[in-house]
Amino acid sequence: MDEALKAKFTSIVGAKHALGASADQEPFLTEWRGRWTGKTPLVLRPGSTNEVAATVALANETKTAIVPQGGNTGLVGGQIPDESGSQIVISLGRMDKIRTIDPEGMTIIVDAGAVLQTVQDTAAAHDCLFPLSLASKGSATIGGNLSTNAGGVGALSYGVARDLCLGLEVVLPNGDVLDDLNILKKNNTGYDLRNLFIGAEGTLGIITGASLKLFPKPKALSTSFVALNSPTDALALLRKAQSVAGEALTAFELISSFGLEITVKHQTGMRNPLSADYPWYVLLEVSSLEGSDHGDGLMAGIVEGGFTDGLLQDGTIAASEAQRGQLWGLREGISESQRHEGGSLKHDISVPVAKLPAFMEEAEALVLDWEPAARICAFGHLGDGNLHYNITQPPGDDKAGFLARGNVFSPKLHDLVVAYGGSISAEHGIGQMKTRDLLTYKSPVAMALMQSIKATLDPNLIMNPGKVLSR
Ligand code: FAD
Repeated sequence: MDEALKAKFTSIVGAKHALGASADQEPFLTEWRGRWTGKTPLVLRPGSTNEVAATVALANETKTAIVPQGGNTGLVGGQIPDESGSQIVISLGRMDKIRTIDPEGMTIIVDAGAVLQTVQDTAAAHDCLFPLSLASKGSATIGGNLSTNAGGVGALSYGVARDLCLGLEVVLPNGDVLDDLNILKKNNTGYDLRNLFIGAEGTLGIITGASLKLFPKPKALSTSFVALNSPTDALALLRKAQSVAGEALTAFELISSFGLEITVKHQTGMRNPLSADYPWYVLLEVSSLEGSDHGDGLMAGIVEGGFTDGLLQDGTIAASEAQRGQLWGLREGISESQRHEGGSLKHDISVPVAKLPAFMEEAEALVLDWEPAARICAFGHLGDGNLHYNITQPPGDDKAGFLARGNVFSPKLHDLVVAYGGSISAEHGIGQMKTRDLLTYKSPVAMALMQSIKATLDPNLIMNPGKVLSR
């Protein structure tokens, strides 16, 4: 990029917010696990929708590629520019305001760069709940959450990011602003444009604001950690828990023995809360609108029923907020703990819930046939049929060699997922990691439709090229 164009971009956001020096750019150019790195002439940090619009209009006029970025917690490399050094990064981090909150109407309107944790805390301060929740909530932004259609632990009861969004403000690839911060539940006035941008991973426009749904804040949470012999038992427990608690069952997370083992080993202050080791664990949570007696009663009904039916081997119910935090720490520490065990093949998959146990049995046989010493780290949102089916390298194996061999193996696992009627990307998206997989598994009709939407909205292909679609 020539200096004159750099100066034009810089003048839109101000010199202080146009980062050209490599030391300043570094946090925006590396994905948190170091898996993807890129180069850029400029990281721009606009402070308003008008600044985003002016930046995008100039990029369109000069055919400059743009990579939108929120909290840089994405797991498929969508937020990282390529190695060409020609793509500019637009970080929404400065646009982090809560615009308005309406506790009566149960809606909140926020800037796209608002951090998820801040939105949750603001809702809580008004006695409301914003239920989207991910382990990355301290850094991930609402714009990123919507662009990836994030799932997380609350999806079981409240739905994914798409279900929580009422409207959007979006800067289109030509610089126009689509102002559709709808707060109506019912609004059937033509195509649902909002849903074009949710899950588009920044390839169709830049989300600058969002109107979101709020829910009544639960009066009490009851959380337990139970041990089981198999995923089949976990599925039976899920059905029992749903029949006892209905929508009040707000989390049902599966953890493998290996997942617990490495979390206890690598995360400070973590321990197995049970007196022995078991093959599988479930972290489940009930949210009561009535109070702790009601919530605890529901949880007791689930756990007692689980023991009576022979599904549970052991279990504990959190007796305090601190204990609840400890139990959640066991679940939320798994991803980070895997980093300490060497290379890991990630598969963010979903299959129809009822088929999960059969899928897991077949998948395990497939993995161990390929690499008998591999360690399967399967964990996640069992209630949504969504597992992080990760495969950790054998101890002492060469990391690069394992990952290279794994890249040849992973398509076999994805073939199995698809044979079970599942998805090869349940919640993390496509980014730059899975563009080839998308071509393999998505129907040609769907691919052609996506290409034509892209060509209509972004004829100059400036918005996050190389992500989702291969151009
Ligand atoms: P980024 O990483 O910055 O960007 C992600 C994508 O969105 C990129 O393609 C980017 O170009 C685009 N984008 C970002 N902001 C905008 C915008 N304003 N407009 C247009 N496009 C934009 N994900 C889940 O779904 N469920 C989980 O349970 C989960 N757990 C996680 C746990 C950990 C420890 C970590 C590190 C990640 C986890 N993630 C999870 C993945 C990640 O946190 C989510 O994908 C999150 O929604 C990304 O938000 P972000 O602001 O960091 O976006």
